Amino acid sequence: MVRENEIRYGEVAVDPPPATDAGLVFIGLIRTPWTSRMMTPRQGRADGPVCRIEIFEPWWQALDSVEQFERLEVLYWLHLSRRDLVLQSPANDGSARGTFSLRSPARPNPIGTSIATLVGVENGVVLVRGLDCLDGTPLLDIKPDRALFTPIAPPQPGDLETG
Ligand code: SAM
Repeated sequence: MVRENEIRYGEVAVDPPPATDAGLVFIGLIRTPWTSRMMTPRQGRADGPVCRIEIFEPWWQALDSVEQFERLEVLYWLHLSRRDLVLQSPANDGSARGTFSLRSPARPNPIGTSIATLVGVENGVVLVRGLDCLDGTPLLDIKPDRALFTPIAPPQPGDLETG
């Protein structure tokens, strides 16, 4: 069940240290069709609506070559989330679990990630499908989907031996 800011039966909140943004800079704004958390999907879908990721001007050059990737990992700041819950009841049924066992938006550092399908890149705007955030959510980063990279393993003993 989607949460606004309530505490549910079984949940535990703590008194967190004062929130800071740890020196992060928001590098853009995400435009989606969703204006309420109740309407926003819990996870993005590859067949979801096209959303606009509007990159702020100093970072436009960083979009060079992005269009060659089919899927992008998008990281965003779930800015309306509460940040003090250590136990949460996602179903609001009295049973609670630790925050780090959930993908809930309520977390000490409310970073959301989605693997999005690239639709296009034009004039500082990246068009994607597969997001699940509110209209106006701040953008933290964009990276190619890690599954598209082959890990570079360090040399292992025996690698150079020939039969
Ligand atoms: N896909 C991301 C992840 O797994 O890290 C986020 C998943 S989270 C369950 C998605 C939910 O966060 C949405 O359904 C909505 O209720 C909530 N949400 C979306 N944008 C938000 C924002 N800007 N601030 C707070 N909550 C938000």
